[in-house]
Amino acid sequence: MINQYNIRSLRITCLIVSLLLVIFSLFPLLIEKKTLKFIVYLIAAAFELGVYGYTRYLQRKELKRVPIAVGFLLFFSCIMLFFYIGVIARPESQAVNFMVFFICAQLVFMIDPLWNMVLNVVVVIIFSSWTFRIKSPAVWQFDMENVVIASLGGMIFSWQMSHAVIKEMISARRLAAERNRFEAESIRDDLTGLSNRRGFLHEVDFYINACQHVHQTVCVIMMDVDHFKFYNDYYGHPKGDQVLKAIGGVLSRLMAEEKVFAARVGGEEFIILWTENRLSEAQRLVLKLHQMIIDLQIPHEKSPAAPYITASLGLYFLRGGSEDTAEELYAQADRALYEAKNRGRNCIMLLDSADKTLRQVIRADERTEPGL
Ligand code: GH3
Ligand code: MG
Ligand code: MG
Repeated sequence: MINQYNIRSLRITCLIVSLLLVIFSLFPLLIEKKTLKFIVYLIAAAFELGVYGYTRYLQRKELKRVPIAVGFLLFFSCIMLFFYIGVIARPESQAVNFMVFFICAQLVFMIDPLWNMVLNVVVVIIFSSWTFRIKSPAVWQFDMENVVIASLGGMIFSWQMSHAVIKEMISARRLAAERNRFEAESIRDDLTGLSNRRGFLHEVDFYINACQHVHQTVCVIMMDVDHFKFYNDYYGHPKGDQVLKAIGGVLSRLMAEEKVFAARVGGEEFIILWTENRLSEAQRLVLKLHQMIIDLQIPHEKSPAAPYITASLGLYFLRGGSEDTAEELYAQADRALYEAKNRGRNCIMLLDSADKTLRQVIRADERTEPGL
């Protein structure tokens, strides 16, 4: 469940934390009449929301190195805040020592959010039962509030950061590959300037390993030009090459705009690879690409699909935590493309690893049949 719907569990976790923080901040004010504790909790809530909002911003803007460093600073500020809560509000509490150790440990476990979540729950249970007998109820309650906040906060941080970190790793790797000119030449397709099949095989292994490790989704589009043989037969091979170049140009633009990886893996067959947890975002991107090809408006008189060059696209949405191999990824994207060809071409099919069903992707304004 968590594997397949990691983004949903993240949202639910965030909701629980926000609710708990609001309850915790009101409790000292209304029942214990302690304003200082109330303010401290409120600041903690603001910090948690700040970290959450900040990492969302990271995800959206795809900013990398510097903001991640700032993210860590924010995180350690949180640790200092907990330290402050413990020392000022209740010096006899053991929660402070515990939390400084525990939040630091989150960094180690940050790399795998699923195990991080399990660890958090186990630690909270152990801590509560261990301290329940040896503490006065007031201190125990105070410790527990802080431990729950720390563990839930750590979880959010872990889920969000792992996504930012994985994107950082992918682009750093790409830059390093570009710097190595010898390697860059051997994986380049001369006609389009994109990566070739060999480049794709390098890249896909990395995507699969890295993304599966941190439970992030791999999106892959397989795209094939429609009725290209007819085009070559009618307009000639050199004209056909120009079409492939133009499509290469479209994909280069897409790479720059959307930070995706693109390769030409066969004659008129292309693959696009990226990581995105939101299905709606993945659909937006595939629709954009489909439209970009149409917008080229290259006449194709012999195509039964349309009077201009079009492409069929298969999108495979491989959710985090899946065990799929690179071959499986390729086969599933190919299956989606095959279905798009079957449906008359110039369309997009989506295959979701969660339910393995094929659905057609269409623009919102084209939606006529329910469920499509
Ligand atoms: P479909 O819609 O089913 O994909 O039909 P199609 O004609 O595109 O597919 P098919 O696999 O029958 O033909 C692919 C054609 O692509 C055959 C070949 O002439 C052309 N092709 C492959 N590589 C190149 C290339 O580098 N340059 C040019 N100009 N044509 C190429
Ligand atoms: Mg074709
Ligand atoms: Mg083909």
